[in-house]
Amino acid sequence: MRMTNLFVQTLREYPSDAEVISHKLLVRAGYIRKLTNGIYNYLPLMQRVLRKIENIVREEMDLAGAQELLMPFVQPAELWQESGRWDVYGKELMRLKDRHSREMCLGPTHEEVITSIGREGIRSYKQLPVNLYQIQSKFRDEIRPRFGLLRGREFIMKDAYSFDADEKGLDKSYEIMAKAYSRIFERCGLETKMVQSDSGAIGGSVSHEFMVLVNEDSESNAGENDVFYCPKCGYSANSNHAISILPEAQTDGKYLEPEIINTPNTHSIEELSEFLNIPASVICKCLIYVVDGKYVAALIRGDRTVEETKLMNVFAGNDIRIARNDEIEEIMQNSGFNATIGFIGPKGLKNVEIVADKTVKDLKNFVIGCNQTDKHLTGANWGIDVELPEKIADIRLVEENDKCPECSHPLKVTKGIEVGNIFKLGTKYSKAMNATFTDKDGQEKPFIMGCYGIGISRTAAAAVEKHHDEFGIKWPLSIAPYTVIIVPVSDRDEEQMNLAEKIYNELLKHKVEVILDDREERAGVKLKDADLIGIPYRITIGKTIKDNLIEFKTRSTNETILISPEEAIQKIISL
Ligand code: ATP
Ligand code: MG
Repeated sequence: MRMTNLFVQTLREYPSDAEVISHKLLVRAGYIRKLTNGIYNYLPLMQRVLRKIENIVREEMDLAGAQELLMPFVQPAELWQESGRWDVYGKELMRLKDRHSREMCLGPTHEEVITSIGREGIRSYKQLPVNLYQIQSKFRDEIRPRFGLLRGREFIMKDAYSFDADEKGLDKSYEIMAKAYSRIFERCGLETKMVQSDSGAIGGSVSHEFMVLVNEDSESNAGENDVFYCPKCGYSANSNHAISILPEAQTDGKYLEPEIINTPNTHSIEELSEFLNIPASVICKCLIYVVDGKYVAALIRGDRTVEETKLMNVFAGNDIRIARNDEIEEIMQNSGFNATIGFIGPKGLKNVEIVADKTVKDLKNFVIGCNQTDKHLTGANWGIDVELPEKIADIRLVEENDKCPECSHPLKVTKGIEVGNIFKLGTKYSKAMNATFTDKDGQEKPFIMGCYGIGISRTAAAAVEKHHDEFGIKWPLSIAPYTVIIVPVSDRDEEQMNLAEKIYNELLKHKVEVILDDREERAGVKLKDADLIGIPYRITIGKTIKDNLIEFKTRSTNETILISPEEAIQKIISL
């Protein structure tokens, strides 16, 4: 490709709306252009990168025995009604009506469609196992699209779905995918950690995420997930799923008798613990949430934080948020109280489901809200002063240095970008949608399913987060849009231009993906663009050609050497 023909416009400045480096660089280097919020054009250079990633994914999926198909982007509501997700999938699901007023949606994921395919196409256990995958655009009307390709509304995903006759089969399919995923990301030049995770809106019981860890990388603040891991035994989990050994209960023995005392203006745990001069760990916090439209009170030890996904899962919910002031007023009114935030307690709440975190169970002589403004109950004990809720669950966010659930070693935390996710779905969709096969014993049984996603466009952006410097992108060779760029220093120097053409043609002959920067531009501009765009190798042709030497630069290390043109060609071909 000649640079004069290549459709690329590099920019001098980073886009003003970009917060993370991959977004900044992909726009500035001419890979993507925003069409509208969370929706991007993938320009020719980007398309080449995406194709490279897709082809790695295809090769590994095919090797793992999966078969590619392509399902529609637009899906009918009926399928989603069958699975039960039409009413519970939140606003991320983009719903629309066709000209006959039939309800449709843009596919955010394809469990429903694939289940209907399995239902029609698989009759007998003899056809199992099957793993079908596609590479397709997805649309999720994300509440906060940001970070460029890392969190778009429209994005490209590889999604695969396995059908098995039994749990053992699913375990095997799952393991095959886990291995394929590790290889895929490794081949894309990305080190990943496979961590336990929550199953979210997809459903099912077991799931793992593949995380690109970005914490060590102070330049990257793109990691939207907290990953807790044990440096000793290898336990690792997303914060929405991580557990740790229960912190020991503490009592400071200060308030031994139950008494309602004045605690004016103590709206927060900090204010209350300061006012009473007690540690936060002897306070029982009571927080009001709204889960799928219903009120929930969550009790947790004062020094600990509620993990909202865990809390939501206690109620098998799909949506959770902290209650607004007016909602708390409503609860107070319904329950015959008029306390304000900071003074709420579980006793006497009407129409509110109560759940206690495991940390509060062992509290003794603790302090808790009693639904009277500016007052708290001190010296409280379960069963005497307040009933211990029936529902007790782990709804606690793990903290760094909590003890590993498997080996008690202190846990560490790091930030991660989720590039892939694998789920054991079991019979969630096959049962709901009546997708069955005839088993060996002649019985009709629902398929045991799994699903496996990779964010193709997010993976490309994650690669930029990991591989860049102040001058631009440093693509891993395997996913770079081109392998090498030839830069003659002076376009007016005939000798330089002739040699450039010669090397260019020689490389083309060997099917090397090569750019010849044949622009009438200053050398500085050309060299800067080459670094910005991030082509792994650069051949610079300048004055040293008198000695039959060119400059050979490796972008990943920024190392340059002087070698002969023949040697340079040989080096590139041997890659
Ligand atoms: P997230 O938690 O980041 O919102 P998710 O868990 O909802 O993602 P999955 O349903 O697991 O996403 O989708 C499979 C893969 O698709 C993810 O692992 C991720 O790589 C990619 N992906 C999901 N949402 C987006 C998005 N908004 N933009 C780009 N890629 C995405
Ligand atoms: Mg996921």
